[in-house]
Amino acid sequence: MNITVVGAGVVGLTTALTLEERGHTVRVVAAETGDATTSAVAAAFWFPYRAGPPDRVVAWAAETKRWLDPLIADPASGVAARTGYEITTDEGLDPPRPWWAAQIDVSRAPAPVAGAPIAWRYASLAIEPARLLPWLASQLRAPIEHRTVTDLAGEPGDVVVNCTGLAARDLAGDHALLPLFGQVVIAELGEVDRSVSVTDDRDPDALFYLVPRHDELVLGGCALPWPPGTPPVVDTAITARILAQARSFGLPIGPVKRVRAGLRPFRPEVRLERVGRIIHNYGHGGAGYTLSRGCAVSVAELVGPASAGLRP
Ligand SMILES: Cc1cc2nc3c(=O)[nH]c(=O)nc-3n(C[C@H](O)[C@H](O)[C@H](O)COP(=O)(O)OP(=O)(O)OC[C@H]3O[C@@H](n4cnc5c(N)ncnc54)[C@H](O)[C@@H]3O)c2cc1C
Repeated sequence: MNITVVGAGVVGLTTALTLEERGHTVRVVAAETGDATTSAVAAAFWFPYRAGPPDRVVAWAAETKRWLDPLIADPASGVAARTGYEITTDEGLDPPRPWWAAQIDVSRAPAPVAGAPIAWRYASLAIEPARLLPWLASQLRAPIEHRTVTDLAGEPGDVVVNCTGLAARDLAGDHALLPLFGQVVIAELGEVDRSVSVTDDRDPDALFYLVPRHDELVLGGCALPWPPGTPPVVDTAITARILAQARSFGLPIGPVKRVRAGLRPFRPEVRLERVGRIIHNYGHGGAGYTLSRGCAVSVAELVGPASAGLRP
C-alpha cells in the first residue's frame, strides 16, 4: 500500500520504518526534523512513564525493548544497555510487582546512590536521540519531505498515519492531548558509573532521574502541566533542584553542558486507532521512545498486509 506518515519524531520514523519492513511504500512528511522535535529533547531511556492504558503500554514497551535490544550492537543507533534502578515508596524486599514490570524481569536491590534506598532493578536502555533519530531516517528508502500538513485527509496514499505528537491537539482537534512540561540537565560524565540509570519517583513534585549516555549524563526531571499553545521555557529553579538532588545522592557528576526543556504529548491513553483512511498514533506522554516500536507494530496491524492495496 502507499502510506503517508505525518511526523518525523521517534514515533513517526519508527512507524515509517516498520511499515516499510512490511512491504509498504512510505513517504514521511514533517514540519520539523531532528533537533527541532520534542523527541530530540527526551532523556530517552526505556521506561513506561506517564502513558496509558497500562495493559497496552506494558505490551508496547516489551515489544519495543525486544526490537531495541539487538540495536545495542550497532553504536550508530545510539542504543546502549543500562541496569535501571527505580526507587519507589514500595516497602520491604517483597512488595507487589510494579504494573510496568508485567512483561519484564525485575528484582529488589539497593539503588547505587548515597543512602541506598531500596529500588526495583531491571534491564533498561539508554537511547541517544541525536543518534537514533538520524539512524532511523537513514534506514528509510526516501528522504523526509519538509512541509507543514494542515489537513490529514488531504494527504495522498491508501492510508495516512498521524504521528504529529503534541501538534495533534490542533490537527486532530483532540483536547484530551495536553502538554506536560519536562526539563533535562546535560552534564559531563564526571565519575558516574555509566552502566546504571536511576529514577526516583517517590515525590512526583521532585521527580529525579540519571541516565548516562556514552559521553554525557542526562539528569532530570519534572512533569508539570503547561498552557497549551505556549512554548516550553527552561526554569533555572528546576535546574538547581535537579543538581541538588544529584548532590544529595552523592553522584560525582561533571560540569553542566546545557539545559533543555520540552513538552511531552500527554494523553490519558495513547491514541492508536483507525478512522477511515487515517490512523492516529500520538499521545505517548513520557514514553515515546519506550513505546515506539510496539505502537508501530499496532499501526501495521491496522493497515493490514501490503498486498491488500494491490489490484489483481
Ligand atoms: C524532558 C523530556 C524527557 C523525556 N524522556 C523520555 C524518556 O526517557 N523515555 C521516553 O520513552 N520518552 C521520553 N520523553 C517523551 C518523548 O520525548 C515523547 O513521548 C516523544 O518524543 C513523542 O514523539 P513523537 O514522535 O510523537 O512527537 P515529536 O517528537 O514531537 O514529533 C512530532 C513530529 O510531527 C511533526 N509535525 C507536527 N505537526 C505537523 C504538521 N502539521 N505537519 C507536518 N508535520 C508535523 C513535527 O515536526 C515532528 O516531526 C521525554 C520527553 C521530554 C520532554
